Parts: sequence; structure tokens; C-alpha cells
Amino acid sequence: MEWAPIHKQLGQLTVAPNLLDYEAARASFSWESLHRELSGLPAGRGLNLVYEAVDRHANTLWRNHLAIRWLGRDGAVRDFTYGDLHEQSNRFANILDAFGICKGDRVFGLSERIPELYFAALGTLKHTSVFCPLFSAFGPEPIHQRLGLGDAKLLVTTQRQYERKVAQLRSTLPELKFVLLADIGEDVSDDVLSLPRLLNEASPCYTIPATDPEDMAFLHFTSGTTGMPKGAIHVHSAVYMHYMTGKYALDLHPEDVYWCTADPGWVTGTSYGISAPLCHGVTSIVDEAEFDAERWYQNLEREQVTVWYTAPTAIRRLMRLDLEPRKQFDLSRLRFVASVGEPLNPEAVVWGMEKLGLPIHDNWWQTETGGIMIANYPTMDIRPGSMGRPLPGIEAAIVQRSEDGSVSVVEEPNVQGDLALRPGWPSMFRGYLHDEERYQKCFVDGWYITGDLAEQDEDGYFWFIGRADDIIKTAGHMVGPFEVESALMEHPAVAEAGVIGVPDPIIGQIVKAFVALRPPAQPSEALRLELLGFARQRLGSAVAPKLIEFEDNLPKTRSGKIMRRLLKARELGLPEGDVSTLESAETENRLRPVAAA
Ligand code: AMP
Repeated sequence: MEWAPIHKQLGQLTVAPNLLDYEAARASFSWESLHRELSGLPAGRGLNLVYEAVDRHANTLWRNHLAIRWLGRDGAVRDFTYGDLHEQSNRFANILDAFGICKGDRVFGLSERIPELYFAALGTLKHTSVFCPLFSAFGPEPIHQRLGLGDAKLLVTTQRQYERKVAQLRSTLPELKFVLLADIGEDVSDDVLSLPRLLNEASPCYTIPATDPEDMAFLHFTSGTTGMPKGAIHVHSAVYMHYMTGKYALDLHPEDVYWCTADPGWVTGTSYGISAPLCHGVTSIVDEAEFDAERWYQNLEREQVTVWYTAPTAIRRLMRLDLEPRKQFDLSRLRFVASVGEPLNPEAVVWGMEKLGLPIHDNWWQTETGGIMIANYPTMDIRPGSMGRPLPGIEAAIVQRSEDGSVSVVEEPNVQGDLALRPGWPSMFRGYLHDEERYQKCFVDGWYITGDLAEQDEDGYFWFIGRADDIIKTAGHMVGPFEVESALMEHPAVAEAGVIGVPDPIIGQIVKAFVALRPPAQPSEALRLELLGFARQRLGSAVAPKLIEFEDNLPKTRSGKIMRRLLKARELGLPEGDVSTLESAETENRLRPVAAA
């Protein structure tokens, strides 16, 4: 297909899109040809994600191209070229060697978006140890749990994060040998050390060891509805998917200035905040500050951002404000906007057209898939409210389960079912750490069952319906109700807790807890506030409930499991559905809110 007619058709595009003809690209796609677009380690020593993302460019004239522009909260700016990232990641890899960290060992990162976190992530992968990011708004409990489950050997963090969230529990993490603080110049002790000092002293030269494409690269924790968080294992060959989706779903070109607003504590922030843009040799903006509408528009204008990847919660926050971005800011360089993480309301797509002069392209994926699976592409009409169509090489379907547990593909359009993917793409998770059984349960009859419910229309577009489980998405972050319930139950006044997500027009869902008290505790406003504070201190602002309601009884199955589905139905005034498994005491004593005294 000719580029010119498409250019005319899509007036806002200023470069030839990478994906000109979706059907043709899908039909001719092969993983082998994709592999040829990346280099592989020299002398056939395998495939290392960071060689593809950084060293490959640093070995050419692109060495001096700006890779990351870091915008400090206070207005400071630090620029890093591909050559700088090459050196800094080499230095970090040498530090790991010096500390006896071995291939496969887990190196954790826990900090706000600071350059040292990026050096650590890249250096860890070069070294063939495993990078495991933690979200800096987690409280001590989720952090402690994940450090333990992931067998953390070394932690890169800041003094404040360490003192507030890790130091007190350190003695219960015997595997954690070293803590490197990114914001202090002097060592604190033999095992709490200054990262800037170590980086300064380390050699900038490093040879990446032979790396098997199947070597573990990232460990990403994600929440389940029951039990502990799950550590999804990703391998170096995920880089193929990061590269391919960067090319087709984000339409990255080397000259782009790209801004992914996701935090590297979550998978979007690593796959699309680090790997994909660097693989394409683009300039990435990293803003240390949190959301601020004016600041964000100023960033887009000042940095002349061309491709912007953000999230529905942020878009809805922008939509709420009385700003006219197109008139008040020069966004003329912006040519492509994409969004992920939660359903993107159709109004947001329309708002994008009106206020940014560009539609917003929704795409879908999850921690386990490691990369974008379904997307709206620059050269295809957007169907507002739809997640789009699968990437070349990705087979997605709507399936339904029969009584015997087997699944069958739904052939008719517009029928709701489980969104399923045919396994085999390179960034697919390779397991849940230490939990093979849970991993195997995700696969049925040759399909990976995503846990999302969706529909597919007659033209192959997928439409998100909801989660098939009780997982909560709040401000784009996944929260497992079990984690919240467990934390609340540590309070002496709490007998039982049931946690659900209630719809919110801005952040998607708000975490709400229903609490039954342990006598002699009585409901009161003071106790409600105490519980909110208690949960927040333990879990952190990203996970803690924002709403707490006292109940006499929580609905439970006869086996004692709290029926969150019922809590939710009652909260939203929806039909209660099948209640045949409901514990009889509860059936007699229907759930009644208890007024706070
Ligand atoms: P996470 O593993 O934290 O990245 O969360 C993945 C989940 O977020 C998916 O399973 C969906 O439930 C939800 N999600 C991601 N992208 C979208 C989207 N475009 N539309 C609706 N839900 C989404």
C-alpha cells in the first residue's frame, strides 16, 4: 500500500506508519523474520534484552543520541545518551559481580522514578540476574511479602523508602544480602551502601555473558484473588515482543520523543518505559513527579513529545479540568497517543479528538503477557470503547467453558466469554515463581485464559467486559482483595473483612472494605478512621482501602469463604445471582449495614 493516500486520510500523521496494512502484516508475519530485525549477542552468544535496547545503539553513531531525558520533581533535568546508559549499566553489572550476585539471582528495585533505578534495571539484565521492580507507593507489608517470595538478594532503593519500609523487617529477610541507596554519598554500614559511590568506582567496561533467550530477565509481581501475590517470570526473548509492539502498536520511529507515563514499578513501566523505546533508539521522557495536568501538558510541549503512552485514569483526570490543551499548549509535534491498563471510555477517545486533535488508541495486555496483545493501530479506524485487534503473530479468541472444564472457541460475534490467547509468543510469562500449579491452571485445552471477560465483534475487534475474578483495578493498579483483607484482619478489632472494587468515574474502581468487628469492639467513626489509617500504614496508598463499612455479618459460603461477588452485587444494587452456597446463618440474618455510632 502507498503511504501517501494514508497520509492524506490521516491528516495528523507526520511519518509513514510502521503498520500500513494490518491484514497483510498478519498474513505474512513470522517470528523468524522478526528475530532477524534484532541483533543477538555478538559471536552467537545468545540474546540479551539490554544488548538490543542499549549496547546495539551504543556501538554505532547512535551512541550520542539522547536515550532518556529525566525531569526531576524540582525542575532539574538530566540527560543520558545511549552511550551513557551503556556505561552506567556496565558499572552496575560490575557492582553485582563484585557482590557475588549470580545469574538468576533477584535484584529488586524500590524507588520513585530516578535515573539510578533505570541503570540498575539495565545493569541487572546485562548481568543475567533478574530485575524485580516494586511500586514505591506500596507500604511495608506488600514490599516485605514480595522481597521474601522473590528471594531478594540485593535491593536498590532510597534512604527514605528503606528506613520507612524495609529496615525494621530486614532481619526476617536473611537472603537479602545488600541494600544500595541511590541518594546517599556515604555508606551506612557494611551492607547498606551508597550506590552513587559504587557506580563511580566501578569500571564502565563490561562484557555481557552468554545469555540464553529463555534466561529469566524480569520478575513481576501481580495480585491474585486468593493467596499470595504471584511472581510472573519473564525471559530475555520478551524483547522481541517489546520491539514488535513498539513498532506496530506504538508506531515508534528512531527520531521520536516518547513519553510513557507508567511507573517502572509495574510491567508497563518496564516493557514500555524501558525496553520497547530503547530497542527503537528513541528519546524517552521520564518524569519523576506525579500527575499534574499543567505540568504534563508543559512536558508534552517543551519536550516536543511525538508519541505518548498513558492510562485511562490520567486521561479522565485531564478531561475533568477546564483546560484547552490544543489552544493553550503547542502540541503540534504530538502524533500518536495510546492508552492501557483499564477500559478507556468511548468519551475519552472523542475528547482526544476534540482537545488534543488526536484520537486515543486503546490497547490491552497484562503482566502475564509481557507485551501488548490487542491494539488499535494508527492506520485503522478506532472503534471507541474497543481494545482493538490482535497484534500480528497473536491469536486471540473468546472461549467458553463447559461443565467438564474444557473450553470451546465462540465462533459467533458479540458473545461474551473468557478472553483467551494461544500460547507461544515470546514475552509470555514462563511461570509463577515457586508456584507451578497456579501457572498450569492458567492453561486449558491449548489456550491461556487471561481472567478477563470480553466479546469480539464481526470485524474482529475485541471489547472488554470485566474481570472474571475479584481483582480490583484502581487508578490502573491491580489490587488483590485478599491482601487487603489480610492486612485489616491483623487489627485486633477486626473479625472478618471482605474487599471489593466499587466503580469510580475517575480512577476506575475504589477499594472498599466491609468489616465485621470482633466483640467487644463497636462500630464508630473513630474506629473507621483508625482502620483506614492502619491499613494505609501497612499497605501503602496504592493498595489500602479508601472506604470502610461495618457489617454485622459478611456473606460466606458454607465452606467459610467470603462471597465478594455478593458484597459487590449488594453494594451496586444488582441481582444477587446464585446464592445456593450461601451459609444459612447469613441467609437468615441478611447483610445489614451497621451505622457508625
Ligand atoms: P496488569 O497485569 O496489572 O497489567 O493488569 C492487567 C489487567 O488490566 C487486564 O487483565 C485487564 O483486566 C486490565 N486491562 C489492561 N488493559 C486494558 C484495556 N485496554 N481495557 C480494559 N482493561 C484492561
